Amino acid sequence: MEMFNLLYSAHGPQNWWPAETELEMMVGAILTQNTNWNNVEKAIENLRIGNLLSIAGLRDIPVSVLAEYIRPAGYYNIKARRLKNLIDRIEGAHNGDIDTLLSLDTDTLRAELLSVPGIGRETADSIVLYGAGRPLFVIDTYTYRILARHGIIHEEAGYDELQSLFMDNLPHDVELFKEFHALIVKTGKLYCKKRPNCPVCPLDTFSRP
Ligand code: SF4
Repeated sequence: MEMFNLLYSAHGPQNWWPAETELEMMVGAILTQNTNWNNVEKAIENLRIGNLLSIAGLRDIPVSVLAEYIRPAGYYNIKARRLKNLIDRIEGAHNGDIDTLLSLDTDTLRAELLSVPGIGRETADSIVLYGAGRPLFVIDTYTYRILARHGIIHEEAGYDELQSLFMDNLPHDVELFKEFHALIVKTGKLYCKKRPNCPVCPLDTFSRP
């Protein structure tokens, strides 16, 4: 909480996830893999202009054409296939109803998302937290980097270990988890780069070894 409070005091609420619908949120979670959000926004805008931000729209468009729409997000052929995989699952297992998917209990929802080819833990957990509104902490490369640099975890710590660290030490509050992850991403982008800029970082006073 000390870490959260320092970041929140410096930057305030981030109001993530920036999406108009649950489907858009899920699409963004796949598109943001290995790229920055500016590129995702361009790809989502293309989908919006093409009137493709719907289950039917994404279902009916050929995967090669979909890839062209999302080209700005990078790895567009792979991501187009992954979007199709997700839509196929929602169609096949949930009659095309996102709410049915997102209303599964947390463990079942996470397991189902992880069973979709191309959806890993960070993407699945982002959907569980920001899409379904369940208190599950999302871990990303910035989380690793920041905690490692502050000596809170060892360099080889795995995703599950980091997630447990947050889950075991924070109240299970959806809004807290949403804001905390968003603030960690902001800290990584602004300060905790390959060469950290500690003197201007809100976490400069946070414990370090
Ligand atoms: S930039 Fe420095 S103070 Fe900020 S999170 Fe990284 S290591 Fe910590």
